[in-house]
Amino acid sequence: MKNKFTFEIVSNQGRARAGILNTPHGPLLTPLFAPVGTQAAVKATTAAQLKELGASLILANTYHLYLRPGDELVAEMGGLHAFMNWDGPILTDSGGYQVFSLADSRRIDEEGVTFKSHIDGSLHRLTPEKVISIEENLGADIIMAFDECASPYDRDYNERAMKRTHAWAERCLRAKTRRDQALFGIVQGGVFPDLRRESATFISSLNFEGHAIGGLSVGETKAEMHAMLEVVDEVLPTQKPRYLMGVGTPQDLINGVLRGVDIFDCVLPTRLARHHAAMTRTGRLNLMNAGFARDPNPIDDQCACYTCRQFSRAYLRHLIVAREILAGTLLSIHNLFTLVNLAKEIRQAISVGIFDQFAADYLSRLEDPENNDGAGLSREAD
Ligand SMILES: [Zn+2]
Repeated sequence: MKNKFTFEIVSNQGRARAGILNTPHGPLLTPLFAPVGTQAAVKATTAAQLKELGASLILANTYHLYLRPGDELVAEMGGLHAFMNWDGPILTDSGGYQVFSLADSRRIDEEGVTFKSHIDGSLHRLTPEKVISIEENLGADIIMAFDECASPYDRDYNERAMKRTHAWAERCLRAKTRRDQALFGIVQGGVFPDLRRESATFISSLNFEGHAIGGLSVGETKAEMHAMLEVVDEVLPTQKPRYLMGVGTPQDLINGVLRGVDIFDCVLPTRLARHHAAMTRTGRLNLMNAGFARDPNPIDDQCACYTCRQFSRAYLRHLIVAREILAGTLLSIHNLFTLVNLAKEIRQAISVGIFDQFAADYLSRLEDPENNDGAGLSREAD
């Protein structure tokens, strides 16, 4: 069968790249931001709304879907695309991050991980082979290797987790049977440049169709994250796509693209929406604020999203105060549009050679460019 996955860089500026990643469910224009649909649903939004706001790739979560409703049920219903009625490309993570977050109810060995379900306490075992079988049942276009995500500052643990991630990466490649899915390997190594270099070297020596950078945005500083991205960027081959996992504030997108990243995802936009916060080009607005009670303006008068075209801050504040669930939908549409559209603007700026200036202007407009990461909201399960 012909390989349906190709990646082409159409223009670049410095380390930043604009590319096209072809998948069986259509082309992805990079850089891009992928909304997260943990349980095969991007919270509070429909597939039609996601299409309208310009989303191209949707992420779904292997750990959650394996536990409920079960990957075999999803396969029986025709796979994730049919089940959630999304005809564009889908990416599934490997569940590694979620399993390792269950600190008190999991046991790791060289073969895999045994853990208790967060839903009913039942005992489960994931191995690299099992994870690939689950991801093949789910049927996403892009699937991730099973990895171990360590806490960023623990050197000994990062060494062990990285070695295990490497052994598991090889097992994932051997276990894969479907030809219509692209498997990405994951670079680990915490905040340690030598481990990151070793991990990027090893992972890129294997035959993955793309590379992901894991274990970032998990408690380290922005400066440390940027330093790790620079180390990894020097090692990873330029001709394969790069995905920075779980990272997604506006400034993270800019800073990631400046360091060679193509794909981003994060629960932050939909999570903030449920906390009444709007992401804007200059920072955050809390729509609960009494000062918006009689404000006839949209969230952002330069934003072209459905919410900003149709509704005032006063109306959105009223919905929040009255606990109408429409508030979550309208704020999710705006927040997702902000990131999806920013990635498109970045792509455009790269293609006409003005990305450096675009990045400098964007970062200078932000009220708090270094510390606007959602106070730990970004990597929680949504
Ligand atoms: Zn908007």
